Amino acid sequence: MPTTNPTPTTMKHVTMHWNPADPVAPNSVEELIHRSNCLGTDQRITNTGGGNTSSKISEKDPLTGEMVEVMWVKGSGGDLRTSKKENFSSLYQSKLLDLQRVYAARAEKGLKSPAEDEMVGMFSHCTFNLNPRPSSIDTPLHSFIPHAHVDHTHPNAAISVAACAKSIEVTKEIYGDEVVHIPWMRPGFELGLAMQEACKNHPQAKGFIMGQHGLINWGKTGRECYELTLELIEKAAEHIEKKQAERGGEAAIFGGAVQAALPEEKRREVFAALLPWLRGQVSQKKRFIATIQDDEKILRFVNSKDAPRLAELGTSCPDHFLRTKIKPLYIGTAPKADTPVEESLR
Ligand SMILES: [Zn+2]
Repeated sequence: MPTTNPTPTTMKHVTMHWNPADPVAPNSVEELIHRSNCLGTDQRITNTGGGNTSSKISEKDPLTGEMVEVMWVKGSGGDLRTSKKENFSSLYQSKLLDLQRVYAARAEKGLKSPAEDEMVGMFSHCTFNLNPRPSSIDTPLHSFIPHAHVDHTHPNAAISVAACAKSIEVTKEIYGDEVVHIPWMRPGFELGLAMQEACKNHPQAKGFIMGQHGLINWGKTGRECYELTLELIEKAAEHIEKKQAERGGEAAIFGGAVQAALPEEKRREVFAALLPWLRGQVSQKKRFIATIQDDEKILRFVNSKDAPRLAELGTSCPDHFLRTKIKPLYIGTAPKADTPVEESLR
């Protein structure tokens, strides 16, 4: 059975940043910007630069003076947290849908076909009001989902569901019929068409878990869409927390600990000895600075039995590659008391 719906006040794994009293007009670009900034402010919801949001809004066409449906969607580059109007592309929704006929007429089409790639270049022909912002590769997803407001995010909790071996079953267990699992497909025209079809086949659905990728969901209003995004993430996180507790809690995670962390003071000593040398190694062609993270969660991972194997598997969501690269380098060698720390890494 699906879990009961969490409310904003009971959510532990996401934070509601959109105050109902915030002065934004419904179904406006300003509302879309506000929703996007609120989503991006909670960094558990999506990675920096990742995810996108859209609203289909009625606007006056400068060419005809008539009202037309315009899809505003976060364009390439930029971050949801800091997005402004210039970060969104605006496209005629009817022209985007017309592209389906252009695509259908192509003889050789399909996933990763030249025809699919060529459709990316067609989006700029659908530009509304000379907006220069290039549209995102996710444009067909937002356009072909037949709902007014759509959020696409990469929350860790949803990715964990999307990338696990039993993703289809787990999606069902958490969400019942309200969220449907869509198998992995690279973002593009074909994925947009697949989502359009899934919306037809599952009219009750409020969102999709995108296999090995993330979450996409929608609402009749911007506010409804935002609250649903939070609710779906919260449900996934609650489920993971519950399963973790049933399986021995934090002590058993990642196969359990195989070594204890050095005391904090000792860790500082090791960093002081290691980091100048390490920066020298990586900065020979281009200067780099490092960020250190040795909080409880990171230490639990690096000291665990499964860490070397899991690190080698790399990140689960392709969007994370952009920032983190495909996989971390796990170095299992603990510095020995009588060996300078940089020696033990050579
Ligand atoms: Zn994505």
